[in-house]
Amino acid sequence: MASAELGIPRLEDLPLERGRRVLVRVDLNVPLQDGEVADDLRITTALPTLAWLRERAAAVLVAGHLGRPKGEPDPEYSMAPVAARLGELIGQKVPVAPAVVGAKVEPYVASLAPGELLMLENVRFERGETDDDPTFATNLCELADMYVNEAFGASHRAHASIVGPPRVLPSAGGRLLFREVEMLSRLLDPGERPFVAVLGGAKVSDKLGVIDALLQRCDAILVGGAMMFTFLLAQGHAVGDSLVEPEMVDECRRLLETGRVRIPTDVVVAEEITDDAEARTVPADSMLADTKGLDIGPETANAFADEIGEAALLLWNGPMGVFEVAPFAAGTRAVADAVARCRGFTVVGGGDSAAAVRRFGLADQVDHVSTGGGASLEFIEHGDLPGLRALRESPMRA
Ligand code: ADP
Ligand code: MG
Repeated sequence: MASAELGIPRLEDLPLERGRRVLVRVDLNVPLQDGEVADDLRITTALPTLAWLRERAAAVLVAGHLGRPKGEPDPEYSMAPVAARLGELIGQKVPVAPAVVGAKVEPYVASLAPGELLMLENVRFERGETDDDPTFATNLCELADMYVNEAFGASHRAHASIVGPPRVLPSAGGRLLFREVEMLSRLLDPGERPFVAVLGGAKVSDKLGVIDALLQRCDAILVGGAMMFTFLLAQGHAVGDSLVEPEMVDECRRLLETGRVRIPTDVVVAEEITDDAEARTVPADSMLADTKGLDIGPETANAFADEIGEAALLLWNGPMGVFEVAPFAAGTRAVADAVARCRGFTVVGGGDSAAAVRRFGLADQVDHVSTGGGASLEFIEHGDLPGLRALRESPMRA
């Protein structure tokens, strides 16, 4: 597969002049707590692109979505806390428009000075966003002279604010979008061997597509997390009260037949998911009836760490256990340590696994911690995303 970034216009390609209005779609879907931003990574990673535009005296309209409002204004999902945090980070107040598009927004846009930022309201306050409605896309585009997609993490969705503007405005990909595409592209057509993927997290069904795609390219897939129990079930083992997806058993059996899927030989079980739970390690083929499997065991963690250590190319997505709760964090920690030590090219993708790596303070020792979540997995699966395709096929490109 050819490198997907080829053909995506860059910021430098934009016909930028002082005071030109630039609509920047950013992945601002951050976690909130008590009305404040609890983790601002998605805001900080967009700062280089925003700074570049401000230095060139663009008037910047920032657009993003937060949560899943139902296509109408909902104060619970207002962008105000995000704008407040962004304002703190750049040392300049970022006003929030009272809507996404329309007559109420126009005066805010008109009064925006070169180098200033305006936050539009949550694009999902408009029903036309998720439908890619042409009228909404047109209204959005009318606010600006050009468009930048800095929302790699939302580019797997053919939503109006992602695929609409490149159809009518001069458009480019932002700095972070390029970094994501460049880094993740190394997993598409791997020259380096062995290529090892470590997959965990909640559901097999979420990740079946990417597992299939990876099996075309990987030497081994190491499976942990809740999804391991559906694989154990497929091998005929009892799994107690562990999370399983019975309808995925046949698929898991098919995947196991490739001979390249490794599943745990021991698991950590408990009766409840609490900080003081009594956790026990048992062989994977003799789990007890009334316990839940909540982590990979130490023997599995060692075996996985050895295989990770040999990798020339490594992808990790999905925690190995319920790492948020102390008695079930060891497997995820062991995999994170092994990935950090691995001398090959290492990529961590997925919201929770990326959070785990950061929480363990190991993010600096990984070559690329993707901010993309679901978008990174879809990119790894398909080698492209609707938002990237829209930029590449933009009729407005220079
Ligand atoms: P990512 O965001 O990295 O792609 P997922 O969203 O697929 O990962 O899954 C993360 C969640 O999976 C975590 O909240 C974790 O607690 C949960 N999880 C991992 N292992 C288990 C398990 N054995 N039982 C229940 N939940 C699990
Ligand atoms: Mg997740």
